[in-house]
Amino acid sequence: MAEQLKAELKAVKGMNDILPPDSARWEWFEDKVRALMARYGYLNLRTPIVEPTTLFVRGLGEVTDIVEKEMYSFEDAMNGDKLTLRPENTAGVVRAVAEHSLLYDGGKRIYYMGPMFRHEKPQRGRYRQFHQVGAEALGFAGPDVDAELILMCRALWQDLGLTDVRLELNSLGQPDERRAHRDALIAYFEQHRDQLDADAQRRLHSNPLRILDTKNPAMQALVEAAPRLMDFLGEASLAHFDAVRAVLDANGLAYRINPRLVRGMDYYNLTVFEWVTDRLGSQGTVCGGGRYDYLIEQVGGKAAPAVGWALGVERVLELLKELGAAPAAPVPDAYAVVPDRESLGVVMRTLEALRAAGVSVLMHGGGKDGQGSMKSQFKRADASGARYALVFGTDELAQGMVAVKPLRDATATQTLRPLADVSAWAAQLLDA
Ligand code: ATP
Ligand code: MG
Repeated sequence: MAEQLKAELKAVKGMNDILPPDSARWEWFEDKVRALMARYGYLNLRTPIVEPTTLFVRGLGEVTDIVEKEMYSFEDAMNGDKLTLRPENTAGVVRAVAEHSLLYDGGKRIYYMGPMFRHEKPQRGRYRQFHQVGAEALGFAGPDVDAELILMCRALWQDLGLTDVRLELNSLGQPDERRAHRDALIAYFEQHRDQLDADAQRRLHSNPLRILDTKNPAMQALVEAAPRLMDFLGEASLAHFDAVRAVLDANGLAYRINPRLVRGMDYYNLTVFEWVTDRLGSQGTVCGGGRYDYLIEQVGGKAAPAVGWALGVERVLELLKELGAAPAAPVPDAYAVVPDRESLGVVMRTLEALRAAGVSVLMHGGGKDGQGSMKSQFKRADASGARYALVFGTDELAQGMVAVKPLRDATATQTLRPLADVSAWAAQLLDA
């Protein structure tokens, strides 16, 4: 019975527990993100994990991978509402911004982080619950914010010590330009119908632009020679693109213009970009974004321009690990060895004072019958990685003292420190 239960009660396929000490890397990463956002003046916005299904169908577009086959949608058993676990969070941010009229007094710079859900085939860098950090600038029409958002990504890579990602850039123009291009694309693909795979055949009339995004190697040559959207862009669209590029150039940020970069959602226009690496196989896109000037209106808000990006946290952390750039898990400064239970009052008062002074102290956890042998406590102290053991022996306590024993430095000697005045010696424990 217990065995059967244990076999059944596992995390859902493609959804991962993030365990210590690995979770420390996540926290480190999140701290870097928060610090970055603060430097650029982006404020945190938190939306529900569950949204009305219609938000994504309307927002992302019906003929997209996400809406066609990746959404976790269900009916609320209580009232029949059609709901979806968010597969991305731009639509949710836009909904919240519109719902609360956040743009009434001008543009807003927003960021979020959290879990997203897509029913995909789980593999390295591709999960069913994964995490994104996203930044969105809403209410700004100019190319300056596009460039700012891209520069922010570069700054984040620098803060993380992430190398080996490069920027790809494209412009999708405006809807009328896309329509002209679309007509040309359909005509071109119709001429070469025999070379289209089933997916492409199906999308030929519903969403031919997405055919350019195919991962099918057999179609690469065909797609390579297809009419280019760039050739259909008008003066204003080209000027916007040039202005973004000029800022990137002025900042020494190299990029490759990739005319086939179309992104997976329908809501993009003008600037689109991706940060890619060769190190994660076909999961090589770590971050993607672009402008979405028509999305707010599309989901029922007052028309307003916007631009943003989202990065995949698992992929960024995976890449950092690959590069050996991820930080080591933190270790406590000190480990408290407590010979007997009678002294717990004074021991724990001392530990509280040390922690208040900023020292991280791990206390040996006792069992039913006592604190355990000194030998086993020292073994634990050693395994904890702490630099010092605090030994609250009976003799030391009788003198109002604790022994501070260095664990990592064989040349350092043990010292006795007063219990009554931790401020006089707490700093010693912080010395790395
Ligand atoms: P892909 O082409 O790899 O499926 P995508 O275009 O669907 O990516 P976006 O919707 O643009 O991805 O999401 C932004 C980022 O979120 C991606 O660049 C990637 O880093 C990450 N991401 C997307 N889907 C997943 C997933 N299933 N598991 C882990 N990370 C993901
Ligand atoms: Mg995808």
